[in-house]
Amino acid sequence: MKKEFAVIGLGRFGGSICRTLAQEGMEVLAIDIDEERVNEFSNIVSKAVVADTTDEKVLKDLGIRNFDHVIVAIGDNIQASILTTLILKELGVQKITVKAQNDYHEKVLAKIGADHIVHPERDMGRRIANNMISTNVLDYLELSDEHSIVELIASKKMDGKSLLELDVRAKYGCTVVAIKRQTHIIVSPMAREVIREGDILIVIGADKDINRFEKNIV
Ligand code: ADP
Repeated sequence: MKKEFAVIGLGRFGGSICRTLAQEGMEVLAIDIDEERVNEFSNIVSKAVVADTTDEKVLKDLGIRNFDHVIVAIGDNIQASILTTLILKELGVQKITVKAQNDYHEKVLAKIGADHIVHPERDMGRRIANNMISTNVLDYLELSDEHSIVELIASKKMDGKSLLELDVRAKYGCTVVAIKRQTHIIVSPMAREVIREGDILIVIGADKDINRFEKNIV
C-alpha cells in the first residue's frame, strides 16, 4: 500500500518536500493557511487545502490521524508550529517530522514528542562549511554531535596500500565501510583491499578521529 503524507506549510522547505514526494508517486495532502500557496500546489499533489492547522477541529476533519507521516514545515511562526505539533500528537498521528527554526524551538518540539526534528538551514550550513574546509571531503552526514560518515578522496600517499597496511582502524579509530571506484562500489572492503589514488572512501567514526585520518593520510 502507498504511504500517505501530509505536509503543513508550503514555504521553500515544505514546498520542496511536497514536490519530491509527488514526483516519487506518493499520496500527498498539502496544507497552508495562505490560499495563494495552496493554489500553487493544487496541480502538483493529490490534494491541497487552505487551513489553519492550529485549529484542532480542522485537523480532525481532514482525517489527519489516518496519514502515515505528517511533516510540519511552518517557518517563522514558531507558536503555530508548536501548537500544530501538539495537536497532531494529541490526535495520535503515527509519525511527525517538524522543521525547527532555532535551538529553543527544537527543545520544545522534542519535549512535546515530535518524532523527528530537522534543522535544514543549520545542517546545510555545517555541511557546506565542512566541504569548504577540506578539499578531500566530498560529502558528510552527521550521525550525532560527535560522529559522522564522510566521503574522502584517496590521495597519492594511499595509492597501492591495502587497508591492512594503512591500519586505519587501529591507528585512527575510524572504519572504511565502503570504497567507490569509478562505477562500482565495494561494500565492507576486506583488509587486503588495495586503495588506488582517486578512490572515494566512505569512512565512519568520531569526528576527531576522521579529522586525524584525513590530515595524516588522505
Ligand atoms: P520556509 O522558510 O520553508 O520558506 P515559510 O515561513 O516561508 O518557510 O513558510 C511557512 C508556511 O507555513 C507559509 O506558507 C505559511 O503560510 C504557513 N503557515 C504558517 N502558519 C500556518 C498555520 N497556522 N496553518 C497552516 N499553515 C501555516
